[in-house]
Amino acid sequence: MDLQGTSFIGAGRGSGGAGESRAVNPVSGEGMEPAYLAEGEESVEAVCSLAAAAFLDFRERSGVEKAVFLRAIADEVDVLEEEIVSRMTTETGLPEGRCRMEKGRTCGQLRLFASLLEEGSWVDARIDHADPDRAPVAKPDCRSMWRPMGPVVVFCASNFPLAYSVAGGDTASALASGCPVIVKAHGSHPGTAEIVATAVRIAVEKCGMHEGVFSMLYGSGRTIGQSLVRHPVVRAVGFTGSRNGGRALMDAAAARPEPIPVWAEMSAINPVFVLPGALRERGDAIAEGFVGSLTLGVGQFCTNPGLLIAGGEGRSQFAERIASLAGEAAPAAMLHKGIAEAYQDALKVMMTKEGVETLAQVPVQDGSSQGGAVVLGAHAAGFLSDQSMAEEMFGPATLIVSADDEAAMLEVAESLEGQLTATVHATEEDLEMFGKLIAVLERKAGRLVYNGFPTGVEVCDGMVHGGPAPATSDGRSTSVGPRAITRFTRLVCWQDFPDSLLPPELQEENPLKISRIVDGKRN
Ligand code: NAP
Repeated sequence: MDLQGTSFIGAGRGSGGAGESRAVNPVSGEGMEPAYLAEGEESVEAVCSLAAAAFLDFRERSGVEKAVFLRAIADEVDVLEEEIVSRMTTETGLPEGRCRMEKGRTCGQLRLFASLLEEGSWVDARIDHADPDRAPVAKPDCRSMWRPMGPVVVFCASNFPLAYSVAGGDTASALASGCPVIVKAHGSHPGTAEIVATAVRIAVEKCGMHEGVFSMLYGSGRTIGQSLVRHPVVRAVGFTGSRNGGRALMDAAAARPEPIPVWAEMSAINPVFVLPGALRERGDAIAEGFVGSLTLGVGQFCTNPGLLIAGGEGRSQFAERIASLAGEAAPAAMLHKGIAEAYQDALKVMMTKEGVETLAQVPVQDGSSQGGAVVLGAHAAGFLSDQSMAEEMFGPATLIVSADDEAAMLEVAESLEGQLTATVHATEEDLEMFGKLIAVLERKAGRLVYNGFPTGVEVCDGMVHGGPAPATSDGRSTSVGPRAITRFTRLVCWQDFPDSLLPPELQEENPLKISRIVDGKRN
């Protein structure tokens, strides 16, 4: 594909005017063609007004029509797989296998939401029939369901250039709910973004959708990103990235005359608790699995285990085993220079803290974008006295906290901020002694993992990829799996409406044959 380096403003292309930037190959450090033109305020206005117009049409499309659209996007992404993989490997330094896997996941997510729409029950239709004879006051007929909110702005993730970017989970769930999407591309993989956006545009045309249903802008988050979030037409935001970035967008959204939700996925250290019996029975296997999870993708997963709490005899040898395995992991290029620098900065801060010991550090080439595994150690008392030891080091680094007993483990668990995941390695005997731990962790994390590892987020009905702040801005939902769709919807109730004016989902004869709650009973 002949990359143009310009934004997608509905069916048209942007002309820039706010500077330009290039992707940088993180392995070679070389800038790549073409230059990407950054857009300014005029383009923000243009995409928002197109999205507002598109919403009037798109919100009325049936679930089946939207499903055809989502499947068409997936098909077009499939068609462009070779171009995507070729550009993505160069822009991100990610290996080909990972790029293909992420492409598969992206298309799988789009098709999963398509199936959800075809089945139709996700709208959670509820009907309460009228009772005019009820005393002392008549009961009205009330019918409600989820409806789309309006245009959604999606900020692409640097660490998921496909699955959480242009046609990724946020976009798929917003489109599925009936909301037009405006994407703010990430500057670290603009070419990959352009190819995927081209696939979406082709699908828009093939399916006869309004051109404003999808736009994508290149430019600075602090300028056009903020303007998009503040624009009155925009009704919700999806974001994956840093805590500071997410917080800035939440603040901007809250300061609007009409505040809007920001579904931000931010920082987590995903604690792994290794209880004494499990350590005794299978310490070596846990150490191996842990290091695999820690170093996967150069540690650039939001579910990377940045904290391990070990209890029981032999925990020092266990920590040494982890350090020795991690020390053998080859360093590799991180996604971009900014991430590599942020990783080195976070390490420097953590390694100079009182009470933190360096157990292993894989050396990296000076000035490169490489990230090497790092294992640090601390005692629970030190960890509890310095909250900053629980800060994210985004990369393949972990802190092993040694806990003398159950009380120390519980205290560490209680001290933690909200997390995407919390993992426990235990035997049945352990659980008799450490039963309270699971209850504490349930309050802290969106997903609890038993005798496993947190990386690898299955896209399925039962998945929750969320958690209390600061893991996300709002722990009531998930950004992975079908339940993500309701993030971009709101409940609407129709009271005493004639059948002909109701959405099909709420009509008396249930023409779509979906599951509903009628007069308190699920049918
Ligand atoms: P980021 O800096 O938060 O940027 C993500 C997106 O948000 C970019 O499009 C960026 O635009 C925009 N943005 C950032 N700050 C903004 C602000 N104040 N106002 C408006 N828009 C803003 O994240 P990143 O570039 O992906 O990575 C940076 C660091 O974030 C990493 O080193 C890592 O520490 C952390 N991170 C964590 C996770 C996780 O899952 N926990 C994932 C990714 C990154 P611009 O590019 O134009 O600034």
